Amino acid sequence: MKSIKPTKLSLSTKSIHGNHLHAFKGPVTFPIYQTSTYRFDSSDDAIRYAKGDPNVLVYTRYHNPSVNEVEDRIALMEDGEAAALFSSGMAAISTTILSICKSGDEIVSTPALYGGTYRFFRDTIPNYGINVKYVDPKSLEDLLYLITPKTKVVYFETPTNPTLSLVDIEKLVKLTRRAEKEFRKKITIIIDNTFATILNQKPFNFGVDVVVESSTKYLGGHADLMGGVVVGTKKFIHKVKDLTKHLGGCADPFAAFLLDRSLKTFELRVQRQNENAIVLARSLEKHPKVLCVIYPGLLSHPQYKLAKKQMSGFGGMVTIEVKGGVKGAAKVCDSLKVAVNAMSLGGVETLVCIPVYSSHVNMSKEELAKHGVTPGMIRISIGVEGIKDLIKDFKQALGKL
Ligand code: PLP
Repeated sequence: MKSIKPTKLSLSTKSIHGNHLHAFKGPVTFPIYQTSTYRFDSSDDAIRYAKGDPNVLVYTRYHNPSVNEVEDRIALMEDGEAAALFSSGMAAISTTILSICKSGDEIVSTPALYGGTYRFFRDTIPNYGINVKYVDPKSLEDLLYLITPKTKVVYFETPTNPTLSLVDIEKLVKLTRRAEKEFRKKITIIIDNTFATILNQKPFNFGVDVVVESSTKYLGGHADLMGGVVVGTKKFIHKVKDLTKHLGGCADPFAAFLLDRSLKTFELRVQRQNENAIVLARSLEKHPKVLCVIYPGLLSHPQYKLAKKQMSGFGGMVTIEVKGGVKGAAKVCDSLKVAVNAMSLGGVETLVCIPVYSSHVNMSKEELAKHGVTPGMIRISIGVEGIKDLIKDFKQALGKL
């Protein structure tokens, strides 16, 4: 039989088999290398490693076969050249940013970000002399004056958390490249693709340079692991991994082993979450206690056309605003029996959380307005439960209002 190119296979085949498309004897699953260090053949190994021999394993903060297997598989799934796995999404994001930016550099970002990233930009990196400016996604043309010769990164999320508004990826890339040409400086475009996932949105097809993701969410999918991933060119990932040796946010082998297992059902899970989400969103739209339902797959979403253009599926995140402000939102969340009142997202179980109590807690009224977050909002991460059970559950909880 002719040899099969793994890059040409479908998403599920890539996520199950990775690069191992040949018959070989051994375990069907990739073994866990639960070790912090590696026995040398002889002391010469240490010298070979120091000279750059990639076949010498030295220490798990630098490399680990279970971690590397997952990195290769995710790079394959995401159509990237290489990937680096981290202990959390924030470790992936912070290490990526710090591998590009130094004191005096600037970042231009969209403002509606995951709260942790927003706080990292607001509270941490200015202390290292890195300045962040914000561009309104509705006026992306402003990039042309916000980007200066100091700009090293354009950073964005789409759909955004928790308001599920979209950023026009094609337009953002086009404008950034125009500014790049003018200043003759490389600007790295980074997307956090956690919400959409590679099943629903393929950022590299639009010319984005780097994809970051919290693998705690859809890639992991079972609310039992923490992780983050960065995907990009081999050269870029090499640079990120070099900094990881200093910052230390490497993935643990056991988390990598769990993630390895999760990846195999990634497409099945996310496909089902897409299907459940649209049905639940449509049903909630009709409920008298629900003021609005935000879901990119609904005709009522103001950017439905853009969603159709840049997403192949609309994802498992739905945000609703209920009557009664934050008290109403709390009442609904506390009354749900199938859906779980907990932070995070992307797992097989439906989770709900109130943004003003979680991702956007302690933000000023001005900041909340800038992010489009209101007190009565509930963010729902749809799981893979039976859709009839979910509809019934939300109906009974909303009935308590
Ligand atoms: N990016 C997004 C969109 C998120 O929702 C989160 C966490 O909720 C993160 C990044 C951070 O990931 P982690 O919690 O794995 O550090």
